[in-house]
Amino acid sequence: MSNRYTKATDVTTSELRKSTQSNILAGLTNAEPSGMIAPPSAGEAAPERSDVRLEINPHHCVSCLACVRACPVEAIEVEGPRVQIVEDACIRCGACVPACPHDAVDVAGDLGRALELAVRGDAVLLLSVEAEVYFHPRTPVQLVNACYRAGFPIVHRGVLGDELVAAEYQRLWDDQVWGTMIRSTCPVVVETVRRSYPELLPYLALVKTPLAAEVDYLTAKHGDDVRIVYAGVCLDNGDNTLDAVITLDELAQLLRAREVDIGAQSVHFTRIPEERRRHVSMAGGLPLAMLTREPQASRRFRKIRRDLGQLDTISKAVTQEGMEVGFVDILPCEGCLDHPLLGPRDELFWRRKTLADGEPPRSPVAVLDPAVTVDVARGFDPHTNGDKPDDSRIASVIERIGTAPDGKPWDCAACGFRTCAGFAGALLKGRAAYRQCPPYQERRAKKAQEEAAVDELTGLATYRVLRDTLQHEIARSGRTGEPFGVLFADLDRFKDVNDRCGHEAGNRVLLAVADVLRDAVRSSDVAARYGGDEFVVVLNGTNADGALRVAEEIRRAVERSGLDAGHPVGLVTVSVGVAAFDPQAVADEDVLDVADRALYHAKAEGGNRVA
Ligand code: SF4
Ligand code: SF4
Ligand code: SF4
Repeated sequence: MSNRYTKATDVTTSELRKSTQSNILAGLTNAEPSGMIAPPSAGEAAPERSDVRLEINPHHCVSCLACVRACPVEAIEVEGPRVQIVEDACIRCGACVPACPHDAVDVAGDLGRALELAVRGDAVLLLSVEAEVYFHPRTPVQLVNACYRAGFPIVHRGVLGDELVAAEYQRLWDDQVWGTMIRSTCPVVVETVRRSYPELLPYLALVKTPLAAEVDYLTAKHGDDVRIVYAGVCLDNGDNTLDAVITLDELAQLLRAREVDIGAQSVHFTRIPEERRRHVSMAGGLPLAMLTREPQASRRFRKIRRDLGQLDTISKAVTQEGMEVGFVDILPCEGCLDHPLLGPRDELFWRRKTLADGEPPRSPVAVLDPAVTVDVARGFDPHTNGDKPDDSRIASVIERIGTAPDGKPWDCAACGFRTCAGFAGALLKGRAAYRQCPPYQERRAKKAQEEAAVDELTGLATYRVLRDTLQHEIARSGRTGEPFGVLFADLDRFKDVNDRCGHEAGNRVLLAVADVLRDAVRSSDVAARYGGDEFVVVLNGTNADGALRVAEEIRRAVERSGLDAGHPVGLVTVSVGVAAFDPQAVADEDVLDVADRALYHAKAEGGNRVA
């Protein structure tokens, strides 16, 4: 596909990162891992912290805006045909990736750094639970053995973070003092609240994400210098304390680069593994006891999945109506197993089953090392996603879109926003475009159609309408046997009017002629401006005699209007050619051509006459 929006030499950050990574992959592929954790060498700087980037590849993007509709936080900027992700506003939910029908959203973690750390052989790999599903049918044990072999001496499964935060949630649940509490284990929810619903910040549970808690746990256990690589689908690394974050696709690349075949690994652990069992937690970090004791319909426990828009309702209920809505378990999806990067949603059941089949039995005792102390509490600062435009600007966008017959906004959600006001706010921030709104497009198309049907100066029909009318009349005449008349009128010395009196006066003459034509025809007839000072009238159900009478009436009225306007005698006159379409006669000529030829004769005879 040709590059429509950038110069041929432009390269996206993802492409640069990919090219750097492939160089590193080429250079490091055969290096041997050391196989054990070692402190960094003296004087060696720790690598920078890392994050996953999402970018729209302009070479693949066709600007269809499907991703803009899917983005829950207005993080995609639209400027004409150019569509790009605003890094600072993106919460890395991944929703735009499967939404793009053109595979134009690139997701790139720091594979190069992860590979460097694997080669050094002293980093901990934090493998998300979903990895077991991603690499199926390879077994979880084979996957962990492959990661050992690739150079990670310690591989965690990501359950310890769940255990840490679950204990804290259980403590909060048992504490009866709160009235509203929003689960905060999902970075996407937290970031959405920070950017779009800062008024709900006081209601977020003051608990870290399981990933952040586990990173703290590993740091407390192995020391501040421990290097940690995370591989998973949760692309927002929360408090940004990881050395490298990679996607599961990139983990597969890393293993290939290290020439490690997962399928060739032993089905028994080749090292004593880290703890893989849960004691108190469910996947995602809620305590099992809380979930099993509290019925789903409980007023104290509200489960909301796949609908971050409900934050709007919660915000109104809590901050405007002062309601206490209990514990709100809200997630953008059905949990990480439903993450857009793991594949289609209809595989969710299969994924759950696969994970459940590979889940080790629960531990009857605590699985966290009691010697390791981690504080899982955290606070939240607001992080605005641009200023909210003021109400008058939002109202003017809604006015431009148009409203329903009762005067209220359509709020049809076809643009991807729940309300017209939401769309207007995003549009004013450059995060949406009018072409996302079907009612606006329809309104514009209708207006354009109307504009094309009516001549701007005279208000008469345009040539397009005239053409359609003639076709329609010919067909109707053929069916009914009724004739119809056509008048072709042309002002005789219109150039003289313009030259002697100016264009303004010329326009006034045209307007007067239009009035004459309107007065002369019935509502079922059509009077059109053919172009310049030429006009055509179609008189339905009218024979040649009737058409001649109307033409003469028009001629006289135009002459009179010129005199009434103060023009000299003979300056404003019109010649009219008349033709009648007779359905019984053999038609070998276009009726408009016949009228035009008659007009020619009228002019040739001196003008101001009917022929
Ligand atoms: S990852 Fe999510 S927040 Fe970021 S641009 Fe895509 S849809 Fe929007
Ligand atoms: S979905 Fe977004 S990234 Fe994909 S082609 Fe359409 S506008 Fe471009
Ligand atoms: S009318 Fe347009 S802006 Fe309003 S909700 Fe529907 S699609 Fe969105």
